[in-house]
Amino acid sequence: MDRIFLSPPHMSGKEQQYIAEVFKSNYIAPIGTFVTKFEEDIKAYTGSSHALALSSATAGLHLALRVLGVGEGDYVLASSFTFIGSVSAILYQNAHPLFVDSDESWNISPELLQKAILSAPKKPKALIITHLYGQLCKLDEIRHICHLEGIFLIEDAAESLGATYHGKQSGTFGDIGVYSFNGNKILSTSGGGMLVSDNASWIEKAKFLSTQAKEDFLHYEHKEFGYNYRMSNVLAAIGVAQMEVLEARVNRRREIFALYQKELEGIDEINFMPEVTDSQGNRWLTTLTFDHTDPQRVLDALEGENIESRPLWKPMHLQPLFKNALIVEDGTSAQLFKKGLCLPSGSSLHDEEVVRVCSVIKKVLQ
Ligand SMILES: *Cc1c(COP(=O)(O)O)cnc(C)c1O
Repeated sequence: MDRIFLSPPHMSGKEQQYIAEVFKSNYIAPIGTFVTKFEEDIKAYTGSSHALALSSATAGLHLALRVLGVGEGDYVLASSFTFIGSVSAILYQNAHPLFVDSDESWNISPELLQKAILSAPKKPKALIITHLYGQLCKLDEIRHICHLEGIFLIEDAAESLGATYHGKQSGTFGDIGVYSFNGNKILSTSGGGMLVSDNASWIEKAKFLSTQAKEDFLHYEHKEFGYNYRMSNVLAAIGVAQMEVLEARVNRRREIFALYQKELEGIDEINFMPEVTDSQGNRWLTTLTFDHTDPQRVLDALEGENIESRPLWKPMHLQPLFKNALIVEDGTSAQLFKKGLCLPSGSSLHDEEVVRVCSVIKKVLQ
């Protein structure tokens, strides 16, 4: 049997044609028409006023912190239940993370966020929220808190491109949003990211920093240091082709989720990741928890059938890297980590493959 992967890249078929155009133009550089077109496409799709194509979402989050003035000794609130790329940049800036646990939405708890702000050693400058597995956070409550407290909101929408809240795209609610086009995301450019914001000066500053902070002289003059974070025109060509099928990719991921739900219906101990009111996630990954069964048993059984699955992400406050970091928790994400599993969810999966995965799960649980 062919291996079933968790979330492999899914090309549209147009990518190589666009790459050929890049080669013909010889703009094999982090500049060119496809970089601009990719940014225009993201702006048109998400409704954000400004966009900046980058080498990764991790780079985007780093630039977001730099542009918002987060530096040494500052505190940055962040969802603990996330992927490392979400919070590495806090360390790049020599700032301190202040982690916040999840609630029943699996994403950051607004209630614990309030507590974290009260308990912070000094007023946090920014909050990084993650729409984990493509499912939305409780944005109304979170935005309200950030607004009242005067804390910048950064949306890590790396996993949630195409997901909406009140019909508006994830990534466009905060001061700055970040999408990822890494190999396993809903769209892939092999690697890449995009920074979005309605604030033109932040995006302009991020662009300056992403291209080595060169002052406006031919001889390369520098007043501050930057990074080499811009996206290649070759990869942007892949991005433009991928954007043409984004809607179809979201629909297929949601279909796959619905099929899992149907196939596993009636198994009481299975709980799928919920969807918060008035939101529509992109169901990037179908994720679930088991009330009684050790997910490792299911993972091993799937592996035995050449099917890739993965535990839910290990919360940041349980990572050795962050053993001294501050956390406001009530055990929710630790429980999710203990009980949960991510199932194969790639948009190229066939229905029969989903059924095959479910039959293995059912055999373990019976
Ligand atoms: C993938 C991912 C990132 C990092 O994205 P890259 O483009 O690989 O740097 C950050 N946060 C979350 C939640 C992710 O899933």
